[in-house]
Amino acid sequence: MKADNERQQERDFMVRFQIAARGIRDKRVLDAMRRVPRHLFVPSSYRVEAYEDYPLPIGSGQTISQPFIVAFMAEALLLKGDERILEIGTGSGYQTAILSLLAKEVYSIERIDALLDRARTILESLEITNVELRLADGFYGWEEKAPFDAIILSAAPFDIPSLLLQQLADGGRLVGPVGPLGAQTLVRVTRHGQHFETETLLDVAFVPMRSGLSKV
Ligand code: SAH
Repeated sequence: MKADNERQQERDFMVRFQIAARGIRDKRVLDAMRRVPRHLFVPSSYRVEAYEDYPLPIGSGQTISQPFIVAFMAEALLLKGDERILEIGTGSGYQTAILSLLAKEVYSIERIDALLDRARTILESLEITNVELRLADGFYGWEEKAPFDAIILSAAPFDIPSLLLQQLADGGRLVGPVGPLGAQTLVRVTRHGQHFETETLLDVAFVPMRSGLSKV
């Protein structure tokens, strides 16, 4: 990724007071959160708030997650750097950029055309080259690129789709929100052969995962 030092101090403060202060210890995650220029991924009207401790609208009724949640999920994936990751819900592309620094390859799916276009432009401008984007319905995963060492969901299904679990490599982890609006929990599902172990991590509030594609 191209270096971008603009608003570096705000990012350093964000990591110190919102992320490290709440217990995130993975040095690679903290470093990625310090490096990725989050303000480029939010609409210009929200740019001054880019490093605040809450989610922000990104258009099309969607949101970019609170920085702490992005860091928490990245840490929960237990990445070492050599993984292939599937992300469902590219949105602004911010989390995609964070993951691109933590793994070998990132495959990211988004169902809203307008968001994917914007994310693509920003990721290209940052010269991030280990990411592949696709306009598709994430409920089906990305069969041609499976198996994945890690899968991350940025939108909440009622239940974790079994098609996605089948695209996990043995030992692979899926981290994502699950459940109806107002009663979602973040879970990590680890694959051991045909056995799937589920851990509950946090109460969360994500946009719902939806079927089909959308232009806007
Ligand atoms: N991680 C993103 C968060 C985006 S919000 C960021 O950093 O900005 C969640 C995104 O999931 C939305 O853009 C929404 O359109 C997308 N989404 C919801 N259901 C989907 C599906 N079935 N397939 C692909 N993307 C989906």
